[in-house]
Amino acid sequence: MKRNMLFLRSFMILVLSCIAIKINLCFPNILSSLKTLPIDGHFNFEQLHHAAKDFGNRYSFLPLAVLHPNSVSDIATTVKHIWQMGPGSDLTVAARGHGHSLQGQAQAHGGIVINMKSLQGLKMQFHIGNLPYVDVSGGELWINILREGLKHGLAPKSWTDYLHLTVGGTLSNAGISGQAFRHGPQISNVHRLEVVTGKGEVVTCSGKQNSDLFHGVLGGLGQFGIITRARISLEPAPEMVKWIRVLYTDFATFTRDQEELISGESTFDYVEGFVIINRTGLLNNWRSSFNPQDPVQASKFKSDGRTLFCLELAKYFNRDETAVVNRVRRPFNHQWKQRN
Ligand SMILES: Cc1cc2nc3c(=O)[nH]c(=O)nc-3n(C[C@H](O)[C@H](O)[C@H](O)COP(=O)(O)OP(=O)(O)OC[C@H]3O[C@@H](n4cnc5c(N)ncnc54)[C@H](O)[C@@H]3O)c2cc1C
Repeated sequence: MKRNMLFLRSFMILVLSCIAIKINLCFPNILSSLKTLPIDGHFNFEQLHHAAKDFGNRYSFLPLAVLHPNSVSDIATTVKHIWQMGPGSDLTVAARGHGHSLQGQAQAHGGIVINMKSLQGLKMQFHIGNLPYVDVSGGELWINILREGLKHGLAPKSWTDYLHLTVGGTLSNAGISGQAFRHGPQISNVHRLEVVTGKGEVVTCSGKQNSDLFHGVLGGLGQFGIITRARISLEPAPEMVKWIRVLYTDFATFTRDQEELISGESTFDYVEGFVIINRTGLLNNWRSSFNPQDPVQASKFKSDGRTLFCLELAKYFNRDETAVVNRVRRPFNHQWKQRN
């Protein structure tokens, strides 16, 4: 028994020292090989903490290096180099957009993080016509697409609520907001992608061309390739928007109204529902159709200690339709009062 234990211990020490030797021997080689890659951008090998953070703040994996690419070819060269090292290098790669995901999705433990926002400088190209679209970098923020698009009177059809997220980041998930019931999520509003594959090849794909790659990358959590450019479907930006929030105390009424609104033909352009728990000052911050000082009405919508439900709605319209849209308010308020 004692002999067996001794053998087991020696064996474990041998295995651990082999791993340590492998790490020590491999790291300088990998580092120096990365330093000699012919790229326009640069690698960071120090101060890597930023790349080990995400919005969830629960996972923190330090990478070996961060690539700040200046061109798509920088990404392709790096990924090809890692591919050629083979699986023995154990080097993983993660594209990092704005780092707003959770659970370390945009991190690469001991690997290479690619800072996609470095590609933001690449110009957006707007195509105006019957079916307008824009070609943008995978590292572009949606807020910038909105700002630039409005100069042409255009805007993407499908959004996320929060716009300081990158194109590559949300297209790797789905990109959902209040327009999804009408247009589908953001991944359903992309005509074409340029992708760096796991072998470091730059491939153009669409529903018709390299469609497996196209559908794999969209919603693929960064596991099927790196989106370097995307062609996003646009529509004329609305001149005016009427924005309404409706509070409910009853879940069944809330979901029934929501279903009615998303299945109707010409209802709202944006419909989103959410749950409110323990929010104070709700009635003071939100405009409402009754006097918040009215104690009977107000007591129904105190969120402290209870759950409320909210429908957020928006109607797009042109200036000359203002009178018509304002007329819509009355029947809707009528429903609202009846149901609450
Ligand atoms: C405040 C807040 C509000 C949000 N609101 C919404 C919302 O309304 N609707 C919604 O759908 N989501 C929402 N999200 C979630 C958000 O869309 C996702 O977390 C998204 O992935 C974040 O984008 P990012 O640019 O920060 O990506 P990152 O966090 O940097 O990356 C996310 C994932 O995408 C991969 N990735 C990043 N860039 C690329 C690329 N170019 N090519 C391939 N893969 C890539 C990464 O490797 C990682 O797996 C919200 C998140 C926050 C923090």
